[in-house]
Amino acid sequence: MFRFSCLVFFLCFTFSSGSVSGYGDNDTVPHSARLLSQYIRHASVTGRERMAGLYFSTVARQKGFHVEILTDEPDSYNFTASLYPLDMGKPNIVFLNHIDVVPAGGNGEYTHPPFSGMIADGKVWGRGAIDNKGMAVMQLLALVEFLEVAAEIDLPFNVTMLSVSGEETGGHTGAKIVTNEFLDLLNPVVVYGEGGAGIPKVLKRDPENKVFGVSVTFKRSLWLELSLQMNTSGHGSVPPSSYVVQDKVQSLNRITERNRKVVFSETTRNMFYELGVLEGGFRGLALRNLRLFRPLVVSAMKREEIIYSLISNTVTITAINTPKGPPNIIPQEIMAVLDCRLLPESNTNEFIAKISKLMGNSELEINILHEEPKVPPTRVDDYYFYLKEALQRVYPGSGVVPIMAPASNDNNYFRSHGIPTYGLLPVFIPVYLLETIHNVDERIPVDALEKGLAVYRELIDVLIGSDYGDKALPISEK
Ligand SMILES: [Zn+2]
Repeated sequence: MFRFSCLVFFLCFTFSSGSVSGYGDNDTVPHSARLLSQYIRHASVTGRERMAGLYFSTVARQKGFHVEILTDEPDSYNFTASLYPLDMGKPNIVFLNHIDVVPAGGNGEYTHPPFSGMIADGKVWGRGAIDNKGMAVMQLLALVEFLEVAAEIDLPFNVTMLSVSGEETGGHTGAKIVTNEFLDLLNPVVVYGEGGAGIPKVLKRDPENKVFGVSVTFKRSLWLELSLQMNTSGHGSVPPSSYVVQDKVQSLNRITERNRKVVFSETTRNMFYELGVLEGGFRGLALRNLRLFRPLVVSAMKREEIIYSLISNTVTITAINTPKGPPNIIPQEIMAVLDCRLLPESNTNEFIAKISKLMGNSELEINILHEEPKVPPTRVDDYYFYLKEALQRVYPGSGVVPIMAPASNDNNYFRSHGIPTYGLLPVFIPVYLLETIHNVDERIPVDALEKGLAVYRELIDVLIGSDYGDKALPISEK
């Protein structure tokens, strides 16, 4: 993987001299697309963010932002670009993004090389186009428009774009450092990071309507290693009634075939309620009244794997190993790894006890390989509604729904400090393009980039209030 991505990186910079095609006149390409194209060309696979970070922070400084570097680790680069210097201590509205990208990967069948930043067919192509450099460009360019305002009027709050390292591998070199060491300096009152997006075909009644999912909580991962030892003397030609491989496979079957208990947390209840409001009709009525229609709703939700995983704890078997040996010798031990994803309110010990009971073998040893800490969900508050208003200004008539993300990201470092954190790529984008994230041919339409920029612009506008007055006050008082 590493060698491959290096090769692609080399080819991009050797052979890709011009990076715009499909536009008759280069002048018609918006600044946002050109900036994103350049940012993508500064490849920044996790652990090698520094050059890209230096490039983007230099752009920010040249545009007139107050820039601070928030790290002293050699393998990471985190920086802020703010309307006011951080040391003024103003309450801070933070726009979060990450510098790092995943390796090129894939089988090499790219339409345009993954670090070329090619602008073609009305899209910007390459690693990070959606995840997450496109978002950084939207945030920075939206903020540029308020530099003058901030200089003329002493706003009661700061707005900061925060770019961090290491998101793709757990945030240890990025958001973790920022929240552990620089939180007082940053002084965030709200964080808008990545998360959901706007997608079509959510509503049965009106499939063309855009619905934006803003993540307010997440399912946390719990990785378990299950090991079992059994002294079975034997030869594969005469199978004993019980031996580790057979026992383990049978008990793993019991886990994956179990009837997963459905739990509606406060977040999923809100999510289905809001969807029910948008949906209307009988389906909407059922979604708004889950208790009343539970049997009907639950059996329908269980048929949709994504929905079912949002209302239950899941287990995926990701490894089964036995010590290497000849094919006719029965092994004495076996190990399996489970990737479990727990609902926010689930208790780890109770969950492990349930797994252990289902496995039904007293000799079984269960070790926790990794567990994400419990983080309280962000409650829907004023900052959510500011975002909703901004979205609806740019996409009139669209729906906005608070959601639970199936996996965690940097947002949780801020949530764990009690800071309201909302996750959304403020872009309406077809699912087939979202599927290019971490995949070949990652790309974002230039139009979506411009619309996302407009959402951040409107969000700041909503925050400031049209008369720079009353609307801004509740924030400074919080
Ligand atoms: Zn990301």
